Amino acid sequence: ALEVVNVYEHPHYPNVYIIELEDGSVRLATKNMVPGKRVYGEKLYQWEGEEYREWNIYRSKLAAALVKGIEELPIKPGDSLLYLGAATGTTPSHISDIIGPEGRLYGVEFAPRVMREFVTLAEERKNIFPILGDARKPREYRHLAEATDGLYADVAQPNQAEIVADNADFFLKDGGYMLMAIKARSVDVTKSPEEVFRREIEILKNRGFEILDIVHLDPFDKDHAMIYARFHR
Ligand code: SAM
Repeated sequence: ALEVVNVYEHPHYPNVYIIELEDGSVRLATKNMVPGKRVYGEKLYQWEGEEYREWNIYRSKLAAALVKGIEELPIKPGDSLLYLGAATGTTPSHISDIIGPEGRLYGVEFAPRVMREFVTLAEERKNIFPILGDARKPREYRHLAEATDGLYADVAQPNQAEIVADNADFFLKDGGYMLMAIKARSVDVTKSPEEVFRREIEILKNRGFEILDIVHLDPFDKDHAMIYARFHR
């Protein structure tokens, strides 16, 4: 294994770290809230008494968005977030590291098999609250979550903008932030990605979102972009 030669906080994204390795390469990482535990086979690095978990830019669209220079990372310690499409918790685990013990991540996932793994993760990480539910029906889990500082969406569903807006109406605070990974091809195969983006963005704007940035995630994820927005009630 390559040795760590330096670790420092990312100059633009607080609570995200850059690990420099002896061969001159760098890795993105978060401080591991549960030292000794891996979540998805990622590497663990020790530096000056702290443990860091590699944040794999090919496995997490949020990590890819950071490498692609998204305007800012609005997620901060103590935040509460609603996360749509938690899957087994790859990206949620890094958000869990960032928000820390005072934060809360409510992860909605409708596939029971991956949900089982996510529940196991939530047993290790006390700031994760799994919700077995359908993101298209926020009314059904409205009692399980609070008004949140942020909303993260990665459900790869057609009409994802609408799903996001419906959830924002129930849960997102005025001025809250929204990050949404959009897979153009899963929205409508007959339309070009550009057209799909435009339509989804129109929906978001009409539903109270101020678009702050959009970054395409290629080459780390060829079919996705990340939309960053702020919600106004
Ligand atoms: N966000 C995860 C990460 O970065 O670690 C990966 C999410 S994966 C691309 C999309 C997930 O959304 C799948 O696990 C799928 O079961 C879930 N999903 C799709 N439609 C959903 C819905 N309507 N309600 C809840 N979960 C949904």
